[in-house]
Amino acid sequence: MAAPHASVWWATLEQPPSPRAPLNADLDVDVAIVGAGFTGLWTALFLARHDPSLRVAVLEASVAGAGASGRNGGWASALYPVSFSRIEASHGRDAVLRLRAALQDGVTELDEVARSEGIDFDYERGGSVALARSEVQAARLHAELDDQRAHGASDDDLVWLDESAARARCAASDVRGALFTPHCAAVHPAKLVTGLADAVVRRGVSIYEHTSVTVIEPGDGWRRPRAVTERGSLRAEVVVRATEGYTPAFPDAKRSVVPLYSLVVATEPLPSSFFDRVGLAHRETFSDARHLIIYGQRTADDRLVFGGRGAPYHFGSRVDPAFDTEPDVFSKLEATLVELFGEIPADIAFRWGGPLGATRDFSPYVRLDRARGLAVAGGYVGDGVVLSHVAGRTLADLIVGATSERTSLPFVGNAPRDWEPEPLRWLGINAGLLAADLADRREAATGRPSGFARVLDRLHGD
Ligand SMILES: Cc1cc2nc3c(=O)[nH]c(=O)nc-3n(C[C@H](O)[C@H](O)[C@H](O)COP(=O)(O)OP(=O)(O)OC[C@H]3O[C@@H](n4cnc5c(N)ncnc54)[C@H](O)[C@@H]3O)c2cc1C
Repeated sequence: MAAPHASVWWATLEQPPSPRAPLNADLDVDVAIVGAGFTGLWTALFLARHDPSLRVAVLEASVAGAGASGRNGGWASALYPVSFSRIEASHGRDAVLRLRAALQDGVTELDEVARSEGIDFDYERGGSVALARSEVQAARLHAELDDQRAHGASDDDLVWLDESAARARCAASDVRGALFTPHCAAVHPAKLVTGLADAVVRRGVSIYEHTSVTVIEPGDGWRRPRAVTERGSLRAEVVVRATEGYTPAFPDAKRSVVPLYSLVVATEPLPSSFFDRVGLAHRETFSDARHLIIYGQRTADDRLVFGGRGAPYHFGSRVDPAFDTEPDVFSKLEATLVELFGEIPADIAFRWGGPLGATRDFSPYVRLDRARGLAVAGGYVGDGVVLSHVAGRTLADLIVGATSERTSLPFVGNAPRDWEPEPLRWLGINAGLLAADLADRREAATGRPSGFARVLDRLHGD
């Protein structure tokens, strides 16, 4: 079977994932799920755990794990794409505290649940360091620490490391200090998503691969909703759309999320002398406080996996495998790795990318419309590894009618407004990317915060 993407993760799976047949008939089930990424598969798993008699089927356009879930940066973090100040303003302080607890617990639960299903995905909870590599970055991270403290973070959740403590974790260049949180694990995402697919099948869920859903028809008083494909359809009590960055292909959801591309490189395994020099002894994930996000991890087999934003948004929210490759962005990522760690004693062996999903105000959503039999979850931006687990579990609670500590979290029922029509969307998003890049360059050149950064805040509502 051809790999669905060029990630290091797919290439280092211990065994090729089991191929699964397409849908070739009209079938009747209780819950039909569109998309076999983390969201769809966690939803399926928790539905099967809630009620083993439920008939659950997953329809996947490619193979399970072909989307962002099988090819991301492997940070299982408690990060959330909306600031807690904004959530406090809209939902109150209690909602912030409950969300914080749910995300932090999610980092642990993800591992516990996966392990209980027999999935080994190289989980190592070494925490995460956000490096301050200039005075401006240090000021920004101190402000972040103050904001988090004002929203319930304790010393156990987030601490400032001075220069030597920061360098002991991650000895990158120009480090002046760092924010450290223990609430993050480095994981092998393709082992997790393919393991989840096997786990749900063992629990009686059907997965149909190479089965693209063309339309999701809502139910009405008479007919139940239906997921339609070219060779058959699934009629169900509830149809779940779990297609994240691919969602704009559905005619009724064209402007609900945009696909933003994140690109990644990975080295060959590095010698132990490299890690003696740079640290990452506990496989801490790492970034710095620049505007154009970067993220890295040391893998279980001692590679560096290193990614970042900066790839353009494509007109009309198009998604195409050709967009996974941007030579300029790869070169920049490779240069940034050298800037951080000096000479890297191993070749770059993998370069890939993929689409993540962002709503207009960057807020995630989990919704169930019982009357029409439609459910959706997504909009996690770059924080979906743990969020999709919490969202999938929440969706399963809502579908079976269970009330839990999750079903009143701020993302439940959230319906962000649509993105602007083209060409405004294209202009706005690419202007935002340019502003982030310019802000980083200005800050590096002047040592002072850049006004371009405010354009970014305005773009996503903070
Ligand atoms: C390069 C990259 C790096 C990232 N790094 C991180 C990270 O380090 N930490 C983090 O927390 N998050 C990260 N993310 C985000 C995270 O990976 C995603 O938020 C998460 O995987 C989303 O899961 P999902 O199941 O909702 O979507 P996906 O995994 O994208 O799954 C959607 C599935 O739906 C299928 N599909 C689409 N259309 C149809 C259709 N019409 N019919 C049937 N099936 C369809 C697709 O083929 C796909 O398999 C990253 C994302 C990318 C792209």
